[in-house]
Amino acid sequence: MSDVAGKPCIICVAITGSLPTKADNPAVPITISEQIESTHEAYEAGASIAHCHVRDDEGKPTSDPERFGRLMEGIQLHCPGMIVQLSTGGRSGAGKTRGGMLSLRPPMASLSVGSNNFPTRVYENPPDLVDWLAAEMKTYGVKPEIEAFDLSHIYKAHDMMEHAQIGARPYVQFVMGVKNAMPAVKRVFDIYVDTVHDLFGDDIPWCAAGIGRHQLEVNEWAAAAGGHLRTGLEDNIRIDKTTLAPSNAALVELAVLAAQRHDRPIATPAQARKILGLRAG
Ligand SMILES: [Zn+2]
Repeated sequence: MSDVAGKPCIICVAITGSLPTKADNPAVPITISEQIESTHEAYEAGASIAHCHVRDDEGKPTSDPERFGRLMEGIQLHCPGMIVQLSTGGRSGAGKTRGGMLSLRPPMASLSVGSNNFPTRVYENPPDLVDWLAAEMKTYGVKPEIEAFDLSHIYKAHDMMEHAQIGARPYVQFVMGVKNAMPAVKRVFDIYVDTVHDLFGDDIPWCAAGIGRHQLEVNEWAAAAGGHLRTGLEDNIRIDKTTLAPSNAALVELAVLAAQRHDRPIATPAQARKILGLRAG
């Protein structure tokens, strides 16, 4: 038994994202009703956080608060207690439109705190926009999930904590394996883990996401190191090299197995809320 045995493991499912299409994988939920159904299956499989993007009628990413509102309402209705995390990521809109849905007061939202390259463009997160998004989250009582695409982003989160821009127990997610950004390298992962513990304390919860073929590998690393897991079709559309994932739930099932290999029970939504310091759902 390792020292992480018995420690509940939160599984976040990133259901849709901004990029994948039905042509890539027909299981990618695009309409709000598909998203709610796919989230419900993932919830039944063990996910307690739903990381959400919305698409417009043409399937393009949008930050439309009305759509986010309908999705959040549907998830809350069909998946009792599940934590809805809305994306303020950069592909869906420019500048402050990225935070237009925060007034819906979701329990969580993603917050990128620095810039880096993506496969074909710059993922632009200028300091004034980061400050504004964090202030909006504070105003509306939304807990940020800090997206760390780089080691410097973890330090930036610490700086923001010291300036009370974010709460005292930030939840950092490492994102590894995006082309042109930080690769999924175990040595780097270990440094990330050490850094969050050095900066925020030994009992701070954290999460890791591996993109594409790195998803399962990073799930395994995070489960073994006492972290929490992210999966879903946003990050990866395959269950192995040649097979498309039939659903978000199928990817959640793989994450559950990774957790179980390290004797980690799957966190219920109520446990996840407690770990993250969120109000009861
Ligand atoms: Zn996302």
